Order: sequence, then structure tokens, then C-alpha cells
Amino acid sequence: MSRERVRALKARFREQGYRLTPQRMALIGLLSVSERHPSAAGLHEEIKEQFPTTSLATVYKTLAVLKQLGEVLELEFSQQDNRYDGRKPYPHPHLICTRCRKIVDADVNLGQIVEAAVTDLAGYRISSRRFDFYGLCPECQSRA
Ligand SMILES: [Zn+2]
Ligand SMILES: [Zn+2]
Repeated sequence: MSRERVRALKARFREQGYRLTPQRMALIGLLSVSERHPSAAGLHEEIKEQFPTTSLATVYKTLAVLKQLGEVLELEFSQQDNRYDGRKPYPHPHLICTRCRKIVDADVNLGQIVEAAVTDLAGYRISSRRFDFYGLCPECQSRA
């Protein structure tokens, strides 16, 4: 599945006329399989293991293109670096640890239920949504 995702992303990159450098291909590969919701700096660290000369700007540029294509979900934060999900580029619930900043997917489908209720209540036409749940992850709880 992840291999198909990588192939689809590469195809979309080319359709848009973007050059697929080895660094970008590696980044797309990392993003499309990572369950850890890496930050740009985190991706930069990982990519440098394969391509030591990759700049942080290249990481940001690639993320910007993926965002424009709707192929990466960006989680914006005011107190910490933004994090990215290229495995599931659509809105989905996240569990965020307030101590170690780990972010994992909460595999429940809240979207449709909540969206229907909210739309009914407020009369809004919903274009996007975000479900963040904050707390301590099991590892941080056991270290408390
Ligand atoms: Zn934690
Ligand atoms: Zn996610």
C-alpha cells in the first residue's frame, strides 16, 4: 500500500511539472510511510542520513508542493514546530502527548458524525476540520 502511495505521489509531482530529484523522492518515501508525524526539522535529520547535503529549504519546498497537491496534512502549532502526515493527507483525529510531543493517529472515524451535527447546529458549510486530543502517552505515564 505504501509503495502504491509513493508511486502515486511521484506521478502527481511530475504532472505538475516539478523535477523529482533523488532528495525529493527520498522525502516523499519517508513522508508516505511515517506514522510519527515528523516536523520539517525531523525530516531534515532523517533525509541527511541518505543525502547529507540536503538543505532544510529543500525539505520546506517539497512540503509546500505536497501541501499544494493536497498530499500532505499539515498540523500547525503555535508553541512547537508544525508536523506533517503524508500517509493520511486528509483530516483525522490525533492524540498529542503534552510531554514528549509524540503524535499518533486515533483510529476512530469521528469526522462524519461530528460534521453532520455541527453543520445542523450552526448552518456552516464545513471546508476543513481538526480533532486534537491532548494528554500523556503511555510511555510518559509510566515515567511519571
Ligand atoms: Zn509522551
Ligand atoms: Zn495523522
